[in-house]
Amino acid sequence: MTKALFLIESYLKESPATVISVKDGKYVILDQTIFYPKGGGQPHDTGKIIKDRAVYSVVYVGKFSGEISHEVDHPGLKAGDAVNCILDWERRYKLMRSHTAAHVFASLLNQGTGALITGNQLEEDHVRFDFSLEKYDRAILEEYLAKANKLFATDIPVKWYELPREEAMKIPGVVKMANAFPPDLPTLRIVEIVGVDKQADGGTHVRNLKEVGRIELVKTENKGKHNRRIYFKLN
Ligand SMILES: [Zn+2]
Repeated sequence: MTKALFLIESYLKESPATVISVKDGKYVILDQTIFYPKGGGQPHDTGKIIKDRAVYSVVYVGKFSGEISHEVDHPGLKAGDAVNCILDWERRYKLMRSHTAAHVFASLLNQGTGALITGNQLEEDHVRFDFSLEKYDRAILEEYLAKANKLFATDIPVKWYELPREEAMKIPGVVKMANAFPPDLPTLRIVEIVGVDKQADGGTHVRNLKEVGRIELVKTENKGKHNRRIYFKLN
């Protein structure tokens, strides 16, 4: 099983690795990786795998049968190769800021209005949120965005750690996504925004809310009786 370095240290931009296997010349499995695989509402990372002077672009990273597979742009890598991995850090760091911002916004909206978050997708340039809320208007969302921005101006640490499943499930609101119960594992990874939110989550986050900057509303949509959609982006 590939060691998922991004779960431990989200700021690793570069790391050595050993190729474990290669399928069809371009699906590469490593002994350890800094590349986040698409999932949990967070897009996959991109970057490079370098062997000696040969550079392989990582165009997709996914999780298949529990294994993290890196799709590279051309064949050449083989099992046993010692490689160096380099992230497209600009893209990843934006996603980290957006992901942490999304948790803060979801937490404030959920606590303040009782809105149930039904979907959440990060993109490189915006965040999309689906939630269920009866009484609603644009002013309410602006209010919660302003509340979130106030928090992003404060020095609030973000931590991640594992907890035994039983203990984790006792945290109120640890699963905010409707129907998104975490997998049946003995331990859950918790992302804690100190004093703001605790969430079972496998994504990559910034260490301090100050790194988020500011977010702004892009647009809102009504998707049915109580189903709302909001897009916001990093400013
Ligand atoms: Zn998350």
